[in-house]
Amino acid sequence: MKRIGAHVSAAGGVHNAPLNAQAIGATAFALFTKNQRQWRAKPLTTEQIDTFKANLQAVKIAPQYVLPHDSYLINLGHPEAEALEKSRNAFIDEMQRCEQLGLSLLNFHPGSHLKKISEEESLAIVAESINLALEQTEGVIAVIENTAGQGTNLGYKFEHLAAIIDDVKDKSRVGVCIDTCHTFTAGYDLRTAEACEQTFAEFDRLVGFDYLRGMHLNDSKPELGSRVDRHHSLGQGKIGWEAFRYIMNDPRFDEIPMVLETIDDTIWAQEIEQLYALQEQ
Ligand SMILES: [Zn+2]
Ligand SMILES: [Zn+2]
Repeated sequence: MKRIGAHVSAAGGVHNAPLNAQAIGATAFALFTKNQRQWRAKPLTTEQIDTFKANLQAVKIAPQYVLPHDSYLINLGHPEAEALEKSRNAFIDEMQRCEQLGLSLLNFHPGSHLKKISEEESLAIVAESINLALEQTEGVIAVIENTAGQGTNLGYKFEHLAAIIDDVKDKSRVGVCIDTCHTFTAGYDLRTAEACEQTFAEFDRLVGFDYLRGMHLNDSKPELGSRVDRHHSLGQGKIGWEAFRYIMNDPRFDEIPMVLETIDDTIWAQEIEQLYALQEQ
């Protein structure tokens, strides 16, 4: 079955996220386990961890349908040693927080080369960052998100995801998350069933559906191939409903968290209903 939710607020503490997910009729969700704009966070307390787990159980969402997102500050492909070290430590901390919360996934953007090194060099650094994090944690899968390719961000080609995975030692603990807005603005068309067929065939050929651990369902404000990252509500952007109809009727997207990061959180419940209504069987 399809597991759909949104990137919900964890304001007031991570334990509130499952309740916020339930309030919009979600069967999956994303959250930040710490303030995403700050480097440092207080460690989670035993009480916070226990309340989170209890609430997750109460709303009947299994941990594998929760897709935490890491801080926007982290750059695992950073060209400079000191900044890279800071990012790697922060990423390990994020992995450990997921571990403590009993979660099995951590979603992150691969990183940026900042025009100081080549894409290839930066991608190799990302893979090494993942290897280091996996060595120091247990049970959490590093889930690389594809990007729009804004600025010097890596991850806008499926080849980038494949190159990182290639260099990760423990393939059982690396996966990918496909963001529909990022895919589209990176230049992969999704506007018709035929376009989806082609784009996902390309994804399957280069990366493989075996690695797909989550989806971000977003429409796009910018045009195809614009390399600009601006999300829109479903059906209101340049992608349109056909992409979401395609995804909702394709079993390759079953049993993974599919998360809205659309811009109007007051219509998330409605968007979730609309997505389920697209299912044809
Ligand atoms: Zn996303
Ligand atoms: Zn985005």
